[in-house]
Amino acid sequence: MLITHDTESALGTLVELLNTSPDAGGYEQLPDVASLDALVERREISEVDAVTVADLAAVHALRARLRAVFGAGSTEEAAELVNVLVADVNATPRLTDHDGHGWHMHYFAPHAALADHLAAELGMALGLILMAGERERLRRCEAPDCARVFVDLSRNRSRRYCDSRTCGNRMHVAAYRARQRSAADDAIPLGVR
Ligand SMILES: [Zn+2]
Ligand SMILES: [Zn+2]
Repeated sequence: MLITHDTESALGTLVELLNTSPDAGGYEQLPDVASLDALVERREISEVDAVTVADLAAVHALRARLRAVFGAGSTEEAAELVNVLVADVNATPRLTDHDGHGWHMHYFAPHAALADHLAAELGMALGLILMAGERERLRRCEAPDCARVFVDLSRNRSRRYCDSRTCGNRMHVAAYRARQRSAADDAIPLGVR
């Protein structure tokens, strides 16, 4: 699948945003305006005015709608969610080469509020994944106590765990221990069991 740098960047923002939610299995990581402001800064989200309490509430609501796309049971269902999401915010394609990034498309309406801006950009990034027939790359971590999401951009779509690091390591250690246990069981001579 060919994805451009700005789509990959939007998908990174999408995953980071969704995993700030308590729905991802942890605590609220966007509890206040300052934490949202830091996310905007970190993800280099352009053309954003000062973040307000209203933005914070709207972004919290947006997270749930974006997460629903990961939970959709079919591409039809996911496509409908994305269509409604981008229609609600009057997504407006516009070519730009701001900040030396080279020509790329912005989908948010000029001067859009932060949540609307994110809905347009992240919704379109999800749309590109669906257009490529790659919905299965939108995944939830398989660790039993984790509900973080990720977009599997690996060549053979083999990723199973989120990028929190701990999940993959934990699960590998558990699998290793299980193998050792069964190896130890096998070592007991017949008749002794
Ligand atoms: Zn841009
Ligand atoms: Zn995980």
